[in-house]
Amino acid sequence: MIRSINPTTGQVDFEIAAHTPAEVEERLQRASEAAAWLRTLTFAERARLMNTSADVLASDREDAARMMTTEMGKPITAARAEVDKCVKTMRFYAAHAERFLADSPVDDPATVGATHAATRWQPLGVVLAVMPWNYPLWQVIRFAAPALMAGNAGVLKHASNVPRSALYLDTLFERGGFRKGAFSTLLIGSADVAAVIEDPRIAAVTLTGSEPAGRSVASIAAAHVKKSVLELGGSDPFVVLASADIDKAVPTAVLARTLNNGQSCIAGKRFIVHDAVYDEFADKFTRAIAALKIGDPLEESTELGPLSTERGRDELAELVDDAVQKGAQVLTGAERIDRPGWYYPGTVLAGITPEMRVYGEEAFGPVATLYRAVDNDDALRIANGTEFGLSSAVWTEDPAEQERFATELQAGAVFVNGMSASYPELPFGGVKHSGFGRELSASGIREFCSLKTVWQR
Ligand code: NAP
Repeated sequence: MIRSINPTTGQVDFEIAAHTPAEVEERLQRASEAAAWLRTLTFAERARLMNTSADVLASDREDAARMMTTEMGKPITAARAEVDKCVKTMRFYAAHAERFLADSPVDDPATVGATHAATRWQPLGVVLAVMPWNYPLWQVIRFAAPALMAGNAGVLKHASNVPRSALYLDTLFERGGFRKGAFSTLLIGSADVAAVIEDPRIAAVTLTGSEPAGRSVASIAAAHVKKSVLELGGSDPFVVLASADIDKAVPTAVLARTLNNGQSCIAGKRFIVHDAVYDEFADKFTRAIAALKIGDPLEESTELGPLSTERGRDELAELVDDAVQKGAQVLTGAERIDRPGWYYPGTVLAGITPEMRVYGEEAFGPVATLYRAVDNDDALRIANGTEFGLSSAVWTEDPAEQERFATELQAGAVFVNGMSASYPELPFGGVKHSGFGRELSASGIREFCSLKTVWQR
């Protein structure tokens, strides 16, 4: 059984049997037929269906937001914002896919002996998306909108703790007018993913999730010479240098760490602060984290809800306990909250050393680690001293420092005087063990297209 357990109460709200092998077979076949149909449509035809699907989601806004909040605990205000972002992204790709995938002629075809030579983006076929629970709609839509607009079909293997979101997405695009099978859900466990990747009807796979899951999926895809995109974990640095505007940096740092109850891949997780401003930042940041309103995520004023799963809460607590046992200072938090549901308080730890697990591992919850950097070189050394490289942020008023950190931070993105976020207009993805490939923008829609050279005389 696949269960939706409300993290605020710990109660099972919904359960459903996994798809049988025969049901998976039927869905793969329908996806394959839908892919053949999708590639015959014009961009204008696909855009009309995508915009209608966006209308459907927009009209479901409140129900979809409550579904996510009761399924994985995100504050209702954040859930509504997630729905809005999905709608915006669907409309964005409806409007821009044709331009992103337009033929690109070479300037002087005579140099290659042709009268005309150009490149053309073409869809791959059916793409498997293996997705996490932390943004149950957004993670999927940011893949599905460009994939469908490019003329690919999609099958979704969603995280096992969000079956209601998975089933909602199963029919969303059909309700918008796409042919059945253009985008559908496979209710399967992670052990069944390998067989789907191996299926000849699957052309490529994208996974957003943890590093071990990414390693497994990419190696199976590689064994079958299929493309993969990996969006994996992060332990992003949020660097605060001497000239930073601390009163602006602090509220942004709090949001960067605690958005989505701290369960975001691009959350600021390690706060690396120049010695000159460390004490002021640490004091203001800690007080702001301690003041966050913890509560029922369905209440409008709640800033910190429960973690999504009991296991996730326990793993976070173990990471903190390990650091504390090895000498980390607790500036706030670090004690389990005595109430039903899987709550964990906003926590700030200082005095982190390499022996502590939290030094190298991702803290997937509202736990911030503070590092004192003696100078800018030290700040860069600490920031880059991780195997992850998803995103990063740096706060400084000095243009030379902005330029240096933008270049030298080892990450897929750097946000100067801001916090990491994703936008349909900007590429998103990591370096090092945070993965490869890009989502969003023109780059994201091209990931699941092949580039054909067309030479004519
Ligand atoms: P996870 O355990 O890796 O799960 C993600 C998805 O992969 C789920 O659908 C899961 O299915 C599936 N999965 C797990 N192991 C698998 C395997 N061996 N083979 C095939 N599929 C497998 O990740 P999570 O703990 O739910 O999510 C949190 C992680 O995702 C964090 O590390 C976070 O940073 C990362 N993340 C990255 C991004 C990004 O864009 N880079 C965005 C969000 C989250 P089951 O649920 O059935 O196990």
